[in-house]
Amino acid sequence: MKKLKKRDEVKYCEKCGKKMSITARDSHLGINSMMGYINFNRNLYYCRRCEEGFAPFDKELDVNDEHRITKNLIETTCDLAQRMSSFGEAEEILL
Ligand SMILES: [Zn+2]
Repeated sequence: MKKLKKRDEVKYCEKCGKKMSITARDSHLGINSMMGYINFNRNLYYCRRCEEGFAPFDKELDVNDEHRITKNLIETTCDLAQRMSSFGEAEEILL
């Protein structure tokens, strides 16, 4: 079966508005979310003017770079932790 070639989405730099170039196609990322652990591939972009790399899709999902989980999950975990004795307990319920 012939695979349809997906057209690359054009992204513009959030800082300067310049069209960014794709530095990596289908770069893999695994994160924890409200739906459990999810794996996905997304394109990585680079702005030559700002000399900075961007992952627009990560931003759409509100992925926390440090913890590799979505903002939604952090908020829910914090919310639960406040009602319970510890973060560990909240984590057990969620994950
Ligand atoms: Zn830029």
